Amino acid sequence: MNKPQIAGNSPTLKKDDLIVITGAGGFIAGALTRYFHDQGFTRIRAIDKKPLPEWYQRVPDVESLSMDLSEKDHCIWACEGAVEVYNLAADMGGMGFIERFRIACLRSILINTHLLEAAYRAGVERYFYSSSACAYNTELQKDPQARALKESDAYPAMAERGYGWEKLLSEMFCQEYWAERGLKTFIARFHNVYGPYGTWDGGREKAPAAICRKVIEAKTADQHEIVIWSDGTQTRSFMYIDDCITGIDRIMHCDELIATPLNLGSNVLISINDLVSLVEEIGGVKLERQYDLGAPRGVAGRNSDNAMIKTVLNWEPSTPLREGLARVYAWIEQQYADRKAGRRTVTDHF
Ligand code: NAD
Repeated sequence: MNKPQIAGNSPTLKKDDLIVITGAGGFIAGALTRYFHDQGFTRIRAIDKKPLPEWYQRVPDVESLSMDLSEKDHCIWACEGAVEVYNLAADMGGMGFIERFRIACLRSILINTHLLEAAYRAGVERYFYSSSACAYNTELQKDPQARALKESDAYPAMAERGYGWEKLLSEMFCQEYWAERGLKTFIARFHNVYGPYGTWDGGREKAPAAICRKVIEAKTADQHEIVIWSDGTQTRSFMYIDDCITGIDRIMHCDELIATPLNLGSNVLISINDLVSLVEEIGGVKLERQYDLGAPRGVAGRNSDNAMIKTVLNWEPSTPLREGLARVYAWIEQQYADRKAGRRTVTDHF
């Protein structure tokens, strides 16, 4: 079989070419920075607006900068000398965050708009944009058993307010920079990503981390209750972080995918109720469930149709949910213990 087209095998990308990664103080871009560093890339510029001590991961020998990339001048500076740019900076969080802070989500449009122009002017060869399944038409997601979303389902558009529309418009910017100016852009629509070094407390966390934390809290306090947002019938698919990173690399280095939004997610659908059962099993407890029907719910059901990624890349995310969750559970348990002991942890407050 042919070797996958990834940065490490690229005939054109050299190990000392400058790779710029934005949002690197956060979850996914932090893991991506570590990945490229471990692959032997020697010039990585990692950027986030958070002060350096608050970054989730700090990778040694990486140029780590605290800069607000909604400012045009900072984007120009960020792209200087870059060969590849990965834009993962965005104001985002789980349902509780994106339903409440729509303006903050919309304002992320400034980041991609300035960064793309700066990348083009700097002569960058490849540009990656992290879009989201929230860009899909919400009308198609009203049933927990809704059919999986394929790439063409984004139009006619009825994205999630705030966050989803920002993603859709930024995708369009990426597509037009290719069509009009020849900048090679790559767009992945992530479906819920989870893993260690992600937000697990404070308001921006997503369902897998929140549920792990709640189960750990209940166990530690010897309380046998868990509060579940909405009625727990809502369904999603969840992709482990390692699959997400592999997918980003493969998408970015596949010329067949230039300016073509592609699903990057698991296609294994699970309800929130079943996710709770799985985490209970991992934690070795059984809790009484309370349902907060006033809490944010998001769409009723969302899954990733992986036909296109399988056809083009001959690959799809495949880490079993139970395996990935067990790793996250163990990591959050350690974080929880560290916090109790007064040690620093990965949390993000708003
Ligand atoms: P994250 O919140 O952990 O990381 C995003 C980082 O961007 C944060 O550290 C934040 O400080 C930084 N940032 C925000 N505004 C900035 C600015 N103006 N200048 C510089 N940095 C700024 O989120 P994540 O889960 O790592 O998400 C990364 C990307 O993937 C985002 O674009 C997000 O929308 C997308 N995405 C994530 C998921 C998921 O499940 N985690 C799903 C779909 C899409």
